[in-house]
Amino acid sequence: MKEYQCPLCGYSYDPAAGDPENGVAPGTAFENLPDSWYCPACGIGLEQYKSGRKKSAFGAESMAAIIG
Ligand SMILES: [Zn+2]
Repeated sequence: MKEYQCPLCGYSYDPAAGDPENGVAPGTAFENLPDSWYCPACGIGLEQYKSGRKKSAFGAESMAAIIG
């Protein structure tokens, strides 16, 4: 089974280990995580975790807006 890395903090969800502290049994594939699951390291939701890539919560556009 494939590991999925958190796009925000780099935490890696390991299906073989699951996430017992959050009620996810070992052997649970990433695809089978409950919608309520969130990254145990930084707390982003499953949707954001999935949508992934190295894209921070602030897109390039909002950075430009901050800079002016
Ligand atoms: Zn994270």
